[in-house]
Amino acid sequence: MNSHRSSSRAQTRPVLHLVPSGGSGEPAGAQAHHSHSLRRFGLASVLFYNGLTLAHYLTGAGVLLAAYRERPFLAWPLALAYLVFAVVQFYVLMPLCVCPGCVYRSISGSRCVAGLNALSARLRPSAGAVAEFEERSQGVLCHNTLYVAALVAPPLLAIPGLVLAFSWLTASLAGVVLLLIAVRVEVVFRHLGCPHCLARRWCPNARAMHVV
Ligand code: SF4
Repeated sequence: MNSHRSSSRAQTRPVLHLVPSGGSGEPAGAQAHHSHSLRRFGLASVLFYNGLTLAHYLTGAGVLLAAYRERPFLAWPLALAYLVFAVVQFYVLMPLCVCPGCVYRSISGSRCVAGLNALSARLRPSAGAVAEFEERSQGVLCHNTLYVAALVAPPLLAIPGLVLAFSWLTASLAGVVLLLIAVRVEVVFRHLGCPHCLARRWCPNARAMHVV
């Protein structure tokens, strides 16, 4: 019943013209006929994106453990709370609240650069409205805020620890996190992902980065 409702909703979406009429028979990784949009990103891209994300969150937790190593009663709860927050906002909240309204949820056999459309379909089988996807950037506690917070929180939270007890280990790990942010922006946002994402026409992040 739900899938009938989802598919009828999907058919009314303006984006479907991006998909070739014989889309269901299109080989994996093939390009849609509009621009360089990818209906299905390659597995290597998905693994790179998720590997980068998990490396970022784990290194971020490491930064906090190193920064407060002399205060383990603070270091462990802080690092664990950060790790849980980062993983949940990306692998639970995003698939539940943002992805259901994404065009990748409405195209059979598609795969976005993060592969989260597949996870989203499992966590919330009924598709959402495009507005849900666009609202990712609206409001103080919108998903974009949570996403950025998960990226930048470790170096910021480590500053007091560095002031109280400077260590090269903490500084180096914080540097790695900053490097991972730069890689995400330059490689994923500017080249590998956003310029080829079918959702970029509706995406406030793509508009902000001028990749539409
Ligand atoms: S492109 Fe973004 S919003 Fe769309 S399914 Fe993938 S992760 Fe979710």
